[in-house]
Amino acid sequence: MHRKLVVLDLNGSLLLRSKAGRQVWARPYFKSFLCYLFHPSVATPCQDSKGGLDVIVWSSAQPHSVNFMVESIFGEHAKDLVGVWDRSHFGLTRFQYGQLSSALANLLSEKNPENKYPTIKNLVKVWKAFPRHSSQTTVLLDDSVAKAQRQPNNHICLVEYTSKERALDVKLHRENVAATTPTMEEPIPEPPFDSFMLAVVGILEEIREKNDVAAWLRSGGLRRTAGQASAPPQPNAIWFEDPGVLQYWVGRGRTALQALQIPIEAGVATR
Ligand SMILES: [Mg+2]
Repeated sequence: MHRKLVVLDLNGSLLLRSKAGRQVWARPYFKSFLCYLFHPSVATPCQDSKGGLDVIVWSSAQPHSVNFMVESIFGEHAKDLVGVWDRSHFGLTRFQYGQLSSALANLLSEKNPENKYPTIKNLVKVWKAFPRHSSQTTVLLDDSVAKAQRQPNNHICLVEYTSKERALDVKLHRENVAATTPTMEEPIPEPPFDSFMLAVVGILEEIREKNDVAAWLRSGGLRRTAGQASAPPQPNAIWFEDPGVLQYWVGRGRTALQALQIPIEAGVATR
């Protein structure tokens, strides 16, 4: 089976960045996701029914910000990325590149997204740099449909991880800690943290077995759970709007992580 290429967005997909850009918080279960991506039997599989994964980061932030975010959340696995791409990889003019790209501009653009020059992740650029990969072998994980508009059939859309989502996760975590006493015999069930990182593990497990990723996504593969079509077919970009579909992929992700003996921990940082 062919190896697959996973193109990862950073802000809003894997992490939340503070407004001044000096702090980042990884999405819940990011550590489990990271351990999966670079697990020896995933990165270089022994059996050939499942292809291994090559992983690159592509963010529209400026190089220094991208390096900071990658170091913050990938840690020692940063060296396992086969590419780290930033704003300089979009083919923008100097004006477009510099347009409102400071932290101040990020603040402004949150109020009015049109202020920021739109960046589109054209995967043709990626395939030129990594010629063993093509639309058949590539997935782009990104919270933005607009950024993936050139190759929508290679896009796995995620709900944007915002400060609102994170505040909810922190609240759930605090309540869970407060309710836990040392004398408890059974641990308290895990609160319903944001679980997109687990769902992505489930989806990647499926994709590793596919000959043609784009064909599978185009045919509504994300919505076809356990052999059942979730009617009626919808664009793949909104697969997660069906809670049953999201839960299916989260379950697949949990099963895959357990099989690899990777701890499943939300790891919500409270500060
Ligand atoms: Mg993003």
